[in-house]
Amino acid sequence: MPERRAAAILTVGTELTTGLRVDTNTARIAAECVAAGFRVSEAVTVADDAGVIAASIARLVRANDLVVVTGGLGPTHDDLTREAASLALDLPLRPDPDIVERLQAVADRHKEGAAREQVLRQALVLEGARVLQPTTGTAPGQVVRTGACTLVLLPGPPSEMLPMLHEVLGERRETADPVVLKCARITESDAQMRAQSALAAHPGVDLTVLASPALVDVVLLDAGAGRDGLVDAAHAVALALGEACYSMDGASLAEAVVRLARATFRTVATAESCTGGMVAAAITDVPGASDVFAGGVVAYSNALKTALLGIPEATLAAHGAVSRETAEAMARGAQALGADAAVATTGIAGPGGGTPEKPVGLVWVAVAVGETTEAYELRLHGDRDGVRRRATVHALDLLRLRLERS
Ligand code: AMP
Ligand code: MG
Repeated sequence: MPERRAAAILTVGTELTTGLRVDTNTARIAAECVAAGFRVSEAVTVADDAGVIAASIARLVRANDLVVVTGGLGPTHDDLTREAASLALDLPLRPDPDIVERLQAVADRHKEGAAREQVLRQALVLEGARVLQPTTGTAPGQVVRTGACTLVLLPGPPSEMLPMLHEVLGERRETADPVVLKCARITESDAQMRAQSALAAHPGVDLTVLASPALVDVVLLDAGAGRDGLVDAAHAVALALGEACYSMDGASLAEAVVRLARATFRTVATAESCTGGMVAAAITDVPGASDVFAGGVVAYSNALKTALLGIPEATLAAHGAVSRETAEAMARGAQALGADAAVATTGIAGPGGGTPEKPVGLVWVAVAVGETTEAYELRLHGDRDGVRRRATVHALDLLRLRLERS
C-alpha cells in the first residue's frame, strides 16, 4: 500500500483566534484533501501576525507535500499572508500585470491614493506562482512549488475559497467516501476495540471513533483499500459491533426505527414522562414517519398518567411514577390507544428530585410489542439535558431491538 501524501491546513485570521468567527474552512479543506488522497497531518489556526504566519508556513512546508493556507489575502492592513509567505519561502512578491489591470478599475473607485494602493496589493504574486483567478471577490489565490511541497494560498471567504480549492485538487476523487457505522449504547472504547480487531484482516482502512451522548459513530476511511475494500471492511466491522450497530448508510436511530416498523408492518406509539416528547420528536423528524407513527402522549403528572394512559392509581401509589411497574403500564397504555408497539420513559432527570433509592439519572424504559412488555432500568449520567438525551437514545434503541427481534 503506497504511503499517502501528507497535507497540512493553515487558517489565518484574528477573527478565528478570538472566537468571533467559527473556522469552517478547515473542515471543508480537510474533507477535500482526504478525498483527493492526502493524509491531513495537522490543521493550524493563527492570528493576523506576519511573524507567526511566516513561521507556521516555513515549518509546515518542510513536513508536508501540500500546505493549504486560507485567509489574509484581502486588501486591508491585517491581510498579511502574501508577505508572510514571501518571508517564509524567501521568494519576492511581484505585481501580476493581468491582475493589476483587472483591479485597476476597482482601485480607481477610491479617491485616496493609499486606498488605491491597498487594493493593488492583491495583485502581488510570489515569484514562480500560478495564479488562481477569483470567480467571486477580488483576491486571487496562488499556487507555488517550494522544495518537495506545493503551497496554496486561498482567500478566507468560503465562497471564494472553495472554487479555487477544487481547481487545485481537481474534481477527481482518489479515495472512496468514508463509511459510518452508527452505534447506540456501546462505549467508545468498546466500539473502537471491536472495530480494530475486525480491521486487522483489512489493510488500507483508517479508523476513527466519534461519540455523542449514548451514541458512537465508527468511521472507516479509505487509506488505500478502495471502494470494494472499504465495503468489505465495513461488513466485518458491522459483524464485530453486533446489535449495537443500527445503520451503515447514514440513517439516524429514529430512521432505523421507522424503517424497521415499516418493514415489520407495525405502528408505533410513545408515552413519555422525563423525555417530555423528545422520543416522539425524533421519530416525527423522519420524513414519512406518519406511515408508522400513531402518536404519543406526554404524561408528566400522576393525574395525567392515570387519565390519559390508564395507569392504575394503585400502581403509582405502590411503586411510584419512576418504577418498572409504571413504565410498563405506560407502554401498555400507549399501545392500547391504538398501536402495535409502544415505548415509554419515566425517570429522574434532575438536578432535584433524587433520593438514595431513586437517584438522579434513574430512568425506566418499557417497550411493548404485541403481547409482551419488557422494562429496562437505566442509570444515566449527565446534567438534566444529558439525562434526557441519553434516555431518548436508549428508548429509541430498545424499541429498535425489540422490533428487530420480534
Ligand atoms: P480574509 O480573506 O482573511 O480577509 O477573510 C475574509 C472573511 O472570510 C473573514 O472575515 C471571515 O468571515 C471569512 N473567513 C476567513 N477565514 C475563515 C475560515 N477559516 N472559516 C470560515 N470563514 C473564514
Ligand atoms: Mg482576514
